[in-house]
Amino acid sequence: MNTPLLIDGKAAATRVLQQVREDVASLYEQAIEPTLAVILVGNDPASQVYVRNKVLRAEEVGIRSLEHRLPSDTTTEHLLQLIDHLNADRSVHGVLLQLPLPAHIDELRALQAINPDKDVDGFHSDNVGGLSQGRAVLAPCTPSGCLYLLKQACVDLRGKHAVVIGRSNIVGKPMAALLLQADCSVTVLHSRSQDPQALCRQADIVIAAVGRPRLIDAGWLKPGAVVIDVGINRIDDNGRSRLVGDVDFDSALNRVAAITPVPGGVGPMTIAFLMKNTVTAALNQSQAQRSLSEAVCPSIS
Ligand code: NAD
Repeated sequence: MNTPLLIDGKAAATRVLQQVREDVASLYEQAIEPTLAVILVGNDPASQVYVRNKVLRAEEVGIRSLEHRLPSDTTTEHLLQLIDHLNADRSVHGVLLQLPLPAHIDELRALQAINPDKDVDGFHSDNVGGLSQGRAVLAPCTPSGCLYLLKQACVDLRGKHAVVIGRSNIVGKPMAALLLQADCSVTVLHSRSQDPQALCRQADIVIAAVGRPRLIDAGWLKPGAVVIDVGINRIDDNGRSRLVGDVDFDSALNRVAAITPVPGGVGPMTIAFLMKNTVTAALNQSQAQRSLSEAVCPSIS
């Protein structure tokens, strides 16, 4: 078999972010400053790192960011008030609520409170529903990044059998919807699937989003499959802490046509697509605003 292609997520994210910078510049020419509000409730260390990275990346591409850090004893009502305030603020185009939230907060209610036009994570049911209807909506960032990587790997998706392992609302389900939209035949595997290995071995494309270190080895893969590994798992490797994916990379390498590494595969794509969604939200809102003012006050010609 030919040497497998390593799908380079860092290089792909750089390309997406370059396009974002150009879009940001054209928004500034229209006197629009794209703005992302990020809400973090509590002190979860991993969430703090994610939020810091999102804010830094936003600054790098010229997107204004507003950080709202709330204490861990914040009530659902208080959080909803902040979301309402950000929804009403016309200078804010994207609202991101960092998950997970402290257990006492009603997560679904909070996510549903975000104006779907500002829902840059794509978790509001209007966007979830729109995605499954095949409408152009703000789609979740990680699966959008995976689809971009598949296209970059020059995979003709039409008619291919894609197996998505994992059915979370954040990755697995929206990934399946995007692959369906791209004309794949899609199978979704989960913790209750019977003989997942045999089902996975039928796949031309495998998307692994499980959260189990190196679960998927060569025995799960058809020769020539294209594999996108979403998993990010920290393991102890002879006293050294390191990140591995859900796919056993070394064993898979002898089998696949193309594969993403961990780290350096899907990871960088998530933030890149968050920036892309923020710019899309700003563009959509400015166009909606323009149409509204033209309808109320048509120009005299
Ligand atoms: P989750 O825990 O919400 O969902 C895991 C899914 O895996 C569940 O649907 C479960 O049914 C399924 N599953 C569990 N054991 C299984 C098994 N043995 N066989 C088949 N399916 C099984 O996780 P998530 O939020 O979807 O994240 C999955 C992984 O992706 C995690 O490692 C997470 O860190 C990573 N992740 C990475 C990014 C990124 O930016 N690269 C973004 C989100 C999540």
